[in-house]
Amino acid sequence: MKRSFKHMRWLAALALGALAACETNPITGRSQFMVVSEDMAIGQSAAAYSSMMGDLGKKRKVEADSPRAEKVRHITDRLIAQAVRFRPDSAKWKWEVQVINDPKTVNAFCMAGGKMAIYSGMWEKLKATDDEVAQVMGHEIGHALANHTQERMSIAYSTSIGTQLAAIALGARDQTAALMQQAAVVAIQLPNSRESESEADQIGIELAARAGYDPAAAVSLWDKMGKLGGGTPPEFLSTHPSPEHRKETLQALGARMQPLYLAAKSAKPGDAPSFLSSKEAVNERVVTRPGEPTREEFAARVANEPTTMSFLAEPFEKFKRGETVFDCRAQCAFTYSRRTPDWKKLHGRRQWRDLAVAVLQVGYLGDLSYFMLAEAARGLGLREAASTYYKRALDAGKEYGCGADCEGFNVPKLASAALGR
Ligand SMILES: [Zn+2]
Repeated sequence: MKRSFKHMRWLAALALGALAACETNPITGRSQFMVVSEDMAIGQSAAAYSSMMGDLGKKRKVEADSPRAEKVRHITDRLIAQAVRFRPDSAKWKWEVQVINDPKTVNAFCMAGGKMAIYSGMWEKLKATDDEVAQVMGHEIGHALANHTQERMSIAYSTSIGTQLAAIALGARDQTAALMQQAAVVAIQLPNSRESESEADQIGIELAARAGYDPAAAVSLWDKMGKLGGGTPPEFLSTHPSPEHRKETLQALGARMQPLYLAAKSAKPGDAPSFLSSKEAVNERVVTRPGEPTREEFAARVANEPTTMSFLAEPFEKFKRGETVFDCRAQCAFTYSRRTPDWKKLHGRRQWRDLAVAVLQVGYLGDLSYFMLAEAARGLGLREAASTYYKRALDAGKEYGCGADCEGFNVPKLASAALGR
């Protein structure tokens, strides 16, 4: 009796989860299956990571102070300083990276919340250069930024519930935590979809280029992986299957990234704070050196520089020139109604670039869309584009206005005032 009640509760939880399951990705705009909340994914991944590293540490399989561990920390720190540009909230993650001494394994991962590892097989078997290590870690960070790890955790978690609920006699809370941690480990062993692979390739190569690592290394890295003999393909390829034409796509992306790479290489080192937990982090409180920005300050500043991930660049460049025109109504109405609360939040936080990207991703024809674009353009200092969009907001309002109180904005009044009418 008691047991079937428990069954019911889990099924109910699962059903509730399924209702709230589809979320829009903050970077790519793709809809994802999510049962595990982001906070849960981050918290339980950290717990799973620390027990995994604890076990490996006992077997003396974690390289703490080797020169290559030092180098990996340096590379990933530079990648993270670029990552927070596109996801300012990731500045709060407790980023960490370890080198696992396992010369036969060619693999690396980044869990939800920034807990990373790379296996020593990357050097022993693959002879990876620094630029190639940057590509591997950039790719892994790309998966985490685009919430792919959370997505796979959601899949692992919802499958494990079905098969395990009868066997576990723990209290519901311990049970959830145990299953979640297991899901966090399974998530990094589950293959990514080819769609996710393309996204991570794009994000990774760009993070690396902006951090000053050669985009050509992305191609040589996948080449080396593919050629690795010995019968079984490297672990890395089984969890990161190749999307079609990966090599050609990476070559084309690399050419587009070349200017970013050259600019980063010739720039003097920036004032980015360290993002990795290090000896300087005392009791989880990060000590900043005098004059150095905190992680959050740094992230907030770079997030408002008017550049965006290059795969969003085309619509974004049009936006900057004042050329964005919306024409989608019924088809985009559902997404619009789901995402307008996010717009309001981004507006409140003055995250202008992210606001513009969010509005462009929805593409809905309405006065609020144009008004938000205008506000974003104004926030980014694009005065001409701003006045174009204020005018379009007023025009759109004649037919497609959402009234005097649209998410708390009186668009006609505010747009007129901004135009000095
Ligand atoms: Zn991948």
